[in-house]
Amino acid sequence: MKKKYAAVVLLTGVLMLNSCAANNSDSSKATVTDDIKSSGSVFAMDTYMTITAYGQNGKKGIEAAQKEITKLEKLWSVTDENSEIYTLDHSGGTEVPVSAETEELLNFAIDMHWQTKGALDITLYPVLRAWGFTTGEYCVPDDSEISALLECKGVERISVGNGKAYIPKNTEIDLGAVAKGCAGDAAAKALKEHGVTSALLDLGGNIQTIGDAKPDGTKWKVGIRDPFGEGSIGTLAVGECAVITSGGYERFFEKDGVIYKHILDPETGRPADSGLASVTVIGKEGRLCDALSTSLYVMGLDDACAYWRDSVDLEMILISDDGGVYVTEGIAENFSPKVENVTVIER
Ligand code: ADP
Ligand code: MG
Repeated sequence: MKKKYAAVVLLTGVLMLNSCAANNSDSSKATVTDDIKSSGSVFAMDTYMTITAYGQNGKKGIEAAQKEITKLEKLWSVTDENSEIYTLDHSGGTEVPVSAETEELLNFAIDMHWQTKGALDITLYPVLRAWGFTTGEYCVPDDSEISALLECKGVERISVGNGKAYIPKNTEIDLGAVAKGCAGDAAAKALKEHGVTSALLDLGGNIQTIGDAKPDGTKWKVGIRDPFGEGSIGTLAVGECAVITSGGYERFFEKDGVIYKHILDPETGRPADSGLASVTVIGKEGRLCDALSTSLYVMGLDDACAYWRDSVDLEMILISDDGGVYVTEGIAENFSPKVENVTVIER
């Protein structure tokens, strides 16, 4: 279970960099090979992020990626009083200036809201707060409180463009469902701009890779977490892509024998109860996979499959509450399950 940290901790990104040339006995060789491995960690967006890069540009690339992640966290944190999202949430209904990055992510999240028929809703923040998911001080709000707070939601209330954003008083937003995926894209871009051609980014369980294979020529292996316990339910072999999972196990609380999970159904303002325990989305773009992992979790198995059938370049692994594992046909051959009850979803 993930803990929420105070703003001050959220902003204290620590970068631990180490770069080590592999045991190359012939040190006179002028060529630097891909067996130089660098890694760095940063605590941002409420989670530990680790980047491993191969090749001579790794260290510089990781430093640039870390800077990028820290910059985005400072823009999008809901608890940092200096962030653009905090400023917008506390604007009292006045327009505020926003960076190009924020403008783009807001527009993307709004677009995804409509594409997912409302399952992704960045204006749920006041409802999330009432449940205590924003602070860790959990409680079960009563129906009337939830109804009143749902009155304040609605992405149609957000205006964004020309470097400015506006939300009415009482409406508040939180980019938690898409920020990590977007930060992964930005970090990968920074690594590539520094000449990195092979890297693995682990942003709190969101995996993004650079390069179609590891330096040794084998595919990247990504474990798909078991939502009911420790360890994984199988391994997925991938090339360059994002592999992003949302699951109720990430943050939840129990009250009077009932478990309440942190992904809310925007229609009810209550934890989504769609029959899915986790959703992993595999695709090219981190922010898209992140937006979809959250919203397909809200939609449930049938609607998630329907969404997938209408999409291109997207794959999924869904795990239902009863332990069933559903893998889309495009990646079925690359998935090595440790469990038996695997169903391949066909187009
Ligand atoms: P995580 O960030 O835990 O890996 P997600 O990407 O699924 O997982 O994002 C979940 C976060 O998104 C929640 O903690 C909350 O801040 C926010 N959220 C919860 N439900 C929704 C929803 N239906 N639409 C948009 N954001 C949501
Ligand atoms: Mg998400």
